[in-house]
Amino acid sequence: MDALNSSGGPNGHDWGKGAAGDGSAEDEHASHAEMSDWEHSHGEGRHGHQASLGDALDFVNTLEYDKGEAYEHLADVPTTVQWLQRHELLHKEMVSDLIDRYEREDPQPAIQRVRKVRGALRELLDATVEQRRPESSALREVNRALRAPYLIELVPAKDGVSLDHRHEGDPLAGAMARLSEAVARELTQGDPRRMRICANDECRWVFRDYSPAGRRKWCDMATCGNRAKAARHRERQKAKEKDEEPVQLDA
Ligand SMILES: [Zn+2]
Repeated sequence: MDALNSSGGPNGHDWGKGAAGDGSAEDEHASHAEMSDWEHSHGEGRHGHQASLGDALDFVNTLEYDKGEAYEHLADVPTTVQWLQRHELLHKEMVSDLIDRYEREDPQPAIQRVRKVRGALRELLDATVEQRRPESSALREVNRALRAPYLIELVPAKDGVSLDHRHEGDPLAGAMARLSEAVARELTQGDPRRMRICANDECRWVFRDYSPAGRRKWCDMATCGNRAKAARHRERQKAKEKDEEPVQLDA
């Protein structure tokens, strides 16, 4: 909820599920001082090797719809970089450098790239929910994102070892790769039948249904669920009133 409120979204959506706490281990970063500017390792962070599905769905939902109108949470480079950092997809100490770098160059290509990946991920999720073939352009885009080069390496963990990875190139590309990987794994190795798009056509919030029965239709009963109920109620009332209209009797 905090993430949404701080970025001023229109709906009462629960953004907390994938949002990161401050899990960065400060002491871990010192040992990375010898790395080049854009290399980074995630060490013993919350996600280890992968971004969580919650992060990826939060990412897709950064283009939020409220009563059918789009609300862009990734409006510019600073908000995008900060969003990714909050979700532990970029290191905190990179944030100001990255913002400077993209603002100095033309920020538009970076923003467009992020939005293209986001749109492509949404198409894959939509296709899964609608049980149809995805558009091939979306598949190409996500595959491109997945190709960002990184090295897998083992790092010590409190209880043994864990798998980590280190990006060699552009940190934004690395973040897009991790988000894409989370969606790709869920749709192929997870439980794609649990993916949902809010049944309110003016909302279309993407979420995973964790309810025991697996019959969740709305992003949130309090907003979309209630709106739908209210609309059904109004329609029933209207139908009733129509039925009760005085019948014109022939003279
Ligand atoms: Zn909804």
